[in-house]
Amino acid sequence: MKVKTQENYGGLDLFRVAAALLVIAIHTSPLASFHESADFFLTRVLARIAVPFFFMVTGHFILRDLFSPQNQLRKYLYRLCLLYGFSVLLYIPLGLYAGHYDNLTFGGFLRMLLFDGTFYHLWYFPACILGMLLVILLSQFIHLKGITAISVFLYLIGLFGDSYYGIAAQIPVLKTCYDAMFHIFSYTRNGLFFAPLFLVLGIWAGQSNHLIPSSRTFTPSVLRFIFFFCAMTVEAFTLRHFGLQRHDSMYLFLVPVMFCLYRCLLSVPKASKKTLRTTATWIYLLHPAFIVVIRGVAKLFHLTGLLVDNSLIHFFAVSFLSVLSGIIMTCLTSRFRKRLRSTALLTAKTLRNKTLPIRPGTERAWIELDLGALKHNVHFLQSRLPKDCRLMPAVKADAYGHGAVIISRTLNHLGIQDFCVACVSEGIQLRKAGIKGQILILGYTPPWQFSLLRRYRLTQTVVDDAYAEELRLSGVKVHVHIAVDTGMHRLGICHETPEQIAAVYEMKNLTVDGIYTHLSACDCTTPQCRAFTESQISAFYRVTDYLKSNGYPCRELHLLSSYGILNYPEACADLVRPGIALYGVLSSKGDPMSDLLQPVLSVKARVASVRTLQPGEAAGYGMGYTAKQKTRIAVLAIGYADGVPRELSSCGGYVLIHGMTAPVIGRICMDQMLLDVSTIADVTPGDIAVIIGTSDSREIKAEEIAEQCNTITNEILSRLGARLHRIPVNRIFRSRSALRQPSYSDLPHSPKK
Ligand SMILES: *Cc1c(COP(=O)(O)O)cnc(C)c1O
Repeated sequence: MKVKTQENYGGLDLFRVAAALLVIAIHTSPLASFHESADFFLTRVLARIAVPFFFMVTGHFILRDLFSPQNQLRKYLYRLCLLYGFSVLLYIPLGLYAGHYDNLTFGGFLRMLLFDGTFYHLWYFPACILGMLLVILLSQFIHLKGITAISVFLYLIGLFGDSYYGIAAQIPVLKTCYDAMFHIFSYTRNGLFFAPLFLVLGIWAGQSNHLIPSSRTFTPSVLRFIFFFCAMTVEAFTLRHFGLQRHDSMYLFLVPVMFCLYRCLLSVPKASKKTLRTTATWIYLLHPAFIVVIRGVAKLFHLTGLLVDNSLIHFFAVSFLSVLSGIIMTCLTSRFRKRLRSTALLTAKTLRNKTLPIRPGTERAWIELDLGALKHNVHFLQSRLPKDCRLMPAVKADAYGHGAVIISRTLNHLGIQDFCVACVSEGIQLRKAGIKGQILILGYTPPWQFSLLRRYRLTQTVVDDAYAEELRLSGVKVHVHIAVDTGMHRLGICHETPEQIAAVYEMKNLTVDGIYTHLSACDCTTPQCRAFTESQISAFYRVTDYLKSNGYPCRELHLLSSYGILNYPEACADLVRPGIALYGVLSSKGDPMSDLLQPVLSVKARVASVRTLQPGEAAGYGMGYTAKQKTRIAVLAIGYADGVPRELSSCGGYVLIHGMTAPVIGRICMDQMLLDVSTIADVTPGDIAVIIGTSDSREIKAEEIAEQCNTITNEILSRLGARLHRIPVNRIFRSRSALRQPSYSDLPHSPKK
């Protein structure tokens, strides 16, 4: 599957710098000394797209998570307020110098702080904050469409207080209203009337974006942009001609102009550049200071005629200094940020034990992964299938307790590109670890996480027909596999309504990459189970036949999990989804196939303490064990919090020490368990016990533990390892970390030897 690995917001990032320069143009009027109308066009028409653009970016990236419970809005607003506060302080000296604060009343102060900004470009910050608060407030009561309608209404009110004021002023009632409003703020171009619509427009523009840049969307949106921009120019000049403008920030055609512009920028196939974003922010923040600086310098050296009165040179001088300082500030902050990040990373790594001076296999308990066994199992499963059938391993539940990242990377090295997970977070974890291929989410993803599917290029299962409708309504571009319910009655669209499956193909924002079903009785081979499984298989193919005959392509079909591959390899289709078998075990004991697989995982722990019980003495919680004779017991440093099932103590469980069996006694604790080691000579603290795996010639298989605990291995394995490090042994490839770390077999297994 060819998908873009990087989000293509480079167009937006470039335009941020352009927009910042346009704002400088507004404040310096470059063409004023040459041609009045040309200057009007540049600063009052063209440059008016700059600020709405910034609002749209905020809408697109911040407010898109408006309806998601875990959004970061609070954090963003807080940061925006900080930035505003910082800018206010930065410009206090200049404001004092310029006389902005002379005769300042409390009302005037509030008006400055909330609407007009404390320095002339700073109105952007309160507008953005107020606009966002308004949209967030509305989102508590109504949906996006309603918020949009209200924003349009507010924009219209703003319009008649701005470019169209001349019309409103002729109607006495309106004039009274507007004049009352202008006691509270100087312009309607503010957080109440101007910002909300562009913030909301940003959400819409971002939603219909599909990341994969396409020249097909670029040209038409450029043409549309040019058309609306011409219309806006005509609108502006007409309003100016009739002298209707009180201020000139808001036009009717500005709205479609911005939408089309944003769509153009989204379809520019360039990778994002954070440095451009930071530079643009600094240019925006600092340029008024340079206007003052240049004026001062010009006065000092008697260069006013050249540097200030020639508006074009003035503009270029301000732009040059602003861009230069922008670049310098970006370099400084990025270095600062890098240093911050490296300390943050260090702590994160330390937590994950990467940089702690703990060598692998020297801890109190751990999981060993035999990656050679994984390779064997992959080859074994592939040998049962035709060459063109691909494995799409189930690495859900942290790869059944084995560690999703290490297992997926190893499978990647073995040529496997497709993976199944259970949920979004598992998919994101793999993407962050650099797994590139197709990642199919087998389970339910709530609608407010749909944007994550797109952001991390995860493929979603269509879990039923109502869910397909949810996906369609979201408008998010998503790749999907459709699950077909052929009798398990868990997930999937019912096989008896193939037209509902066909309907998913018609949903414009969904790309159907595959169709699959899950066989619910393929682990059993009684005639009854066989008949049922075969009925599931034929129901599935009836659906695909229906789709094909109606002209819907059926790519990537899959039906088989582990037992399916073992018992029904003829139903392999395009992909198979092995889970448990890949890890070298089967769900329950007694299947002869189990001998053809090699277990990947072992669990080991060290003896913490050895002590002797006198007859009649009890051990563990609730006096769960009482010694009948003199008994030597060992305390093992592993417990149910590590995934050792607590039931093991009550069903004759045992572990291996020095190749001999040590029965589990008493109740298993959270972090410890007790063993009877009376029959094993020489047990000493630090010795290694095997809970799952081999010790000398003896082996405890996960299947045995599952049987003792009355469950299946899948449950035992998937609960392991929340607290245990995984140590690869028998690597199939040399990774850089393998070169750095000592090989596990070089280490002393127990300190005493
Ligand atoms: C978990 C899962 C698998 C893998 O099952 P195993 O029995 O472990 O091979 C395959 N398909 C679906 C839909 C699953 O949920």
